[in-house]
Amino acid sequence: MLTTRPFEETEERQALRATIEQVLARTLPPDRALETDRQGRFEHDVWLALGDVGALGLGASEAVGGSGGTPGDAVAVVEEVARVLPSLAVDYVICGMAMRMLAHPSAGSAAADLPAIAAGERLVAFGLSEPGAGTDLLGLRTSARQEGDDWVLNGQKLWISLAQEAEILYVLARTDPVADDRRARGLSVLAVPVDQPGVIVRRVGMAGMRAAISCEITLDGARASGEALVGERGRGLRLLSETLDVERVMSAGISLGIGRGALDLHVRYAREREAFGAPIGALQAVQHPAADSVTDLSAARALTAVAVRAIEAGSADAAALSAMAKMASAEATARIVDRGMRAMGAMGLAEETPMQMYFRDARLQLFSPISNEMVRNVLGESLGLPRSY
Ligand SMILES: Cc1cc2nc3c(=O)[nH]c(=O)nc-3n(C[C@H](O)[C@H](O)[C@H](O)COP(=O)(O)OP(=O)(O)OC[C@H]3O[C@@H](n4cnc5c(N)ncnc54)[C@H](O)[C@@H]3O)c2cc1C
Repeated sequence: MLTTRPFEETEERQALRATIEQVLARTLPPDRALETDRQGRFEHDVWLALGDVGALGLGASEAVGGSGGTPGDAVAVVEEVARVLPSLAVDYVICGMAMRMLAHPSAGSAAADLPAIAAGERLVAFGLSEPGAGTDLLGLRTSARQEGDDWVLNGQKLWISLAQEAEILYVLARTDPVADDRRARGLSVLAVPVDQPGVIVRRVGMAGMRAAISCEITLDGARASGEALVGERGRGLRLLSETLDVERVMSAGISLGIGRGALDLHVRYAREREAFGAPIGALQAVQHPAADSVTDLSAARALTAVAVRAIEAGSADAAALSAMAKMASAEATARIVDRGMRAMGAMGLAEETPMQMYFRDARLQLFSPISNEMVRNVLGESLGLPRSY
């Protein structure tokens, strides 16, 4: 029978998925996942359990304190997490970014934190976006200057996942002034301790992705030691962009997880709910959308698999394919959750089923970590059309 699961995976990959499924079934059963979402909580025990099975250390080799693995492994894990609680999958992507950044040969002394992050014992956040710098990230205004041996940071960050729980905030800040046409230069990543008077964290209430713990951060003379620089000074954007393709296929993985969860629910409900003396799934009005959804999901899955293979092979097409996978999966999932909501009627809106959570959480996928419009801009330009942004 046709299922919504991935096709043709290796035995190792299937075993990895089964491990994550078991951990989540034990620590985050459906009722707890819904309650966690409703309350917008971060569940430390679930995180530690993921750390115990090596899921958080994927992306960094065992030699540096991670658990190895391939980008394809990380995408499989994030899909399984997203199926249960999409906003926890956002936190998982943040952890993967930290693994890849800290495992970079240029990371410096910040890499000492890697084993504790991989174990789930230390939480970190990434402060890139600002009130005036989202898609236009290079418009960021946060600055860092050296004062004696220390760095002093001033500025504001917005929508920063996990900041309220994190010990360390990786801040992208301008350390060196540059001309307007070279804005990508002169930015550095600094590891800033969150627990200090110069870092003020405010939780922002969100209608979706609630367990991602979105925060606003004010850096008001925040201090970091001279060792806090991650990678080379002035090359922070370059360091982060080396992990970008994996971040995009992981974002595609979140969309696949949401889409799969929503489609499974659509089909189950259509089998069980009766109207006019028969299951509503016998009506083409309910059945055909499910068929469209499984086709959307499979196409997105196939493109994501191709992008993962390109990344793993170091192909020159990896950047374009991972951006396409991110966009196609997000758009597919937006359609899948909409069809699922229609099929479930009032029950789709009920807080006791995850459909409403999938519906709300799918929105993030359209604009983050890169907006689908910006993906289209870049793909259009890659086709030889004039730059449109
Ligand atoms: C739940 C959640 C978690 C997040 N976690 C983090 C995090 O941990 N760290 C972090 O740094 N950030 C985080 N973000 C921020 C996220 O990366 C930004 O929301 C994203 O980059 C988009 O920026 P924006 O929301 O400011 O949208 P804007 O940049 O204001 O864009 C608004 C709209 O304008 C469109 N647009 C803008 N410019 C163009 C253009 N040139 N061409 C065509 N269309 C354009 C966009 O596509 C979009 O539709 C998070 C956001 C959310 C909601």
